[in-house]
Amino acid sequence: NEGDDYKENQRFAEHMKDKTESSSDFATQKTLKEQRQFLPIFSVRQELLNVIRDNQVVIIVGETGSGKTTQLTQYLHEDGYSNYGMIGCTQPRRVAAMSVAKRVSEEMDVRLGEEVGYAIRFEDVTTESTMVKYMTDGILLRESLNEPDLDRYSAVIMDEAHERSLNTDVLFGLLREVIGRRRDLKLIVTSATMDSDKFAVFFGNSPVYTIPGRTFPVEIFFSKNVVEDYVDAAVKQALQIHLTPSKGDLLIFMPGQEDIEVTCGLIRERLDEVDDAPLLAILPIYSQLPSDLQAKIFQKSPEGVRKCIVATNIAETSLTVDGIIFVIDCGYCKLKVFNPKIGMDALQVYPISQANANQRSGRAGRTGPGQCFRLYTESNYKNELLISTVPEIQRTNLSNVVLLLKSLGVQDLLEFHFMDPPPQDNILNSMYQLWILGALDNTGNLTTLGRQMVEFPLDPAMSKMLIVAVDMDCSEEVLTIVSMLSVPAIFYRPKGREEESDAVREKFAVPESDHLTFLHVYQQWKSNNYSSHWCSEHFIHVKAIRKVREVRGQLKDIMVQHRMPLRSCGNDWDVVRKCICSSYFQQAARLKGIGEYVNMRTGMPCHLHPTSALFGMGFTPDYIVYHELVMTSKEYMQCVTSVDGYWLAELGPMFYTVKESLKTRHEKRQVAKEKLIEMEEEMAEATAQLKAREAE
Ligand code: ADP
Ligand code: MG
Repeated sequence: NEGDDYKENQRFAEHMKDKTESSSDFATQKTLKEQRQFLPIFSVRQELLNVIRDNQVVIIVGETGSGKTTQLTQYLHEDGYSNYGMIGCTQPRRVAAMSVAKRVSEEMDVRLGEEVGYAIRFEDVTTESTMVKYMTDGILLRESLNEPDLDRYSAVIMDEAHERSLNTDVLFGLLREVIGRRRDLKLIVTSATMDSDKFAVFFGNSPVYTIPGRTFPVEIFFSKNVVEDYVDAAVKQALQIHLTPSKGDLLIFMPGQEDIEVTCGLIRERLDEVDDAPLLAILPIYSQLPSDLQAKIFQKSPEGVRKCIVATNIAETSLTVDGIIFVIDCGYCKLKVFNPKIGMDALQVYPISQANANQRSGRAGRTGPGQCFRLYTESNYKNELLISTVPEIQRTNLSNVVLLLKSLGVQDLLEFHFMDPPPQDNILNSMYQLWILGALDNTGNLTTLGRQMVEFPLDPAMSKMLIVAVDMDCSEEVLTIVSMLSVPAIFYRPKGREEESDAVREKFAVPESDHLTFLHVYQQWKSNNYSSHWCSEHFIHVKAIRKVREVRGQLKDIMVQHRMPLRSCGNDWDVVRKCICSSYFQQAARLKGIGEYVNMRTGMPCHLHPTSALFGMGFTPDYIVYHELVMTSKEYMQCVTSVDGYWLAELGPMFYTVKESLKTRHEKRQVAKEKLIEMEEEMAEATAQLKAREAE
């Protein structure tokens, strides 16, 4: 009876039109309480609570925007579950955790961080009184390390399960055990898509509850021809929509930050060329955008101003913005995928799946009939896009997961109960990488070092660097470097002042190392009393570097807790470079030509990133290690430090040796040299004797 649904929706739309001009007016006119009662989930509130009361595990399916994320926690709280422990709700994305917690605190009329709080890595906004806690799935995973039964929680909502993020998948396996041990814990799994049976079966045939939808038809337009430049095509489409009389906001999907920035800039630019163009509020959203700017997408724009949101796939299901009528879908997203060529994960642009495409177009049909413009052909969609995205667990490096599970006592990872097990090669490769770092021994058990590494919320190599630094007496310095690496984008480069900011940045450069350059910047900031004025003078994001200080404090606490003393090496920064080498030797490159390097393990050519302190310094060391590879037009090594070839052999003996022939040649030469000197001495002596005899 889809027709009935549609009629119902039409009536509903008419009803809405009578009441208000547009949905965003509507949102501000209604009180928060009224808005809550208007959500689709509200009509089934009691029924849902009954199902939850009768079952330990419930799978809840509902369209994006039906109120799952913001309402379920509140319903459980209102029903008294918070009397027995916290109500936790996990999110695969940090932005969603923060933004939703803020919204819920407003709906509950409490201060964020008190009754309602959130926790993401390096940022815990909760207190003793927190009853509703939003967090990333990674945070709950770490909590389970110290509290395997999650005793502080009375209910856990695993939100956005359809995303199949790595941490959510691992949590599935762990929580399956926990619910067996704790019959009082409620587990709710929510999904925006219908493929929920798999979740139900995994948790022992749990009931699936579907929230009745309220969606409008969305007209889909495919591109007729293959699109060469999706940014350009999106900009054109956006202008076409905006410049023909129509109402309703616009949402554009782009793969990542760079494309979003370019798209926003181009729309602005071309709109400025049009006389008397209607007003347009252009709003970007991506995970690295500061949170005050992120919040802007939810604000109502002034009367007569259309909103145009340009987003990553964060707006696909995690965040819902009301009032979207038009969607433009570029057809791509960024995914982290293990790249065997470089032996590590790389964030790269990939075509989306059909499931993504359908979610994206669905965003146009929430408040009325909408339109979606797909910048790819129908045949692309049908024949080339995967039905759904490969779960992260099957395509990324699992080192961190292996480390975590090992320390939880999971002996045989191939036996762990995954919903979709990762390929065996993937597990073995991750174990190999941990063995290289010394976190696992030859039998695959955690070493002391491995056990220590688990304590830090960092990638294994970074944890190791910090731990090794203690023995090398440079933990003060390495702690700063690790903190700087954990916060993205310290420097900024404003438009029109590129040269000026580059010049300032160059002054900080330590010619042999980007890591040491980071250290230098932080130390300078510190000796200027952590001044914000100093930051703006030096083109440094004050918020970012303050975050570094905060992260540093948190990591320091962990070190103190585990009796790892902070020691400084003073000005002897060679030790710091050696410490970096001890954890990154597996990512080394050798100089090949002028400014050209080859990866020492794969033989692949790779390049210094133009922002590197080593770039264009006229100083190109023979050996370097790098923090990560960025794949754009070329393979760029980002954050690089020069190292001694002998350190590589000493610290990474499984990969490198000092060439024998070279060594023996060197030795032979030495022996020959000594012989020569001996001979010369003998000759000199003989000549002297001869001379003496002659003189007689
Ligand atoms: P679901 O999880 O089912 O997709 P949500 O609970 O996230 O749904 O959203 C329900 C409603 O709450 C949506 O209409 C959305 O517009 C609103 N909402 C969610 N977060 C915010 C926010 N940060 N600011 C304003 N409105 C929000
Ligand atoms: Mg949600």
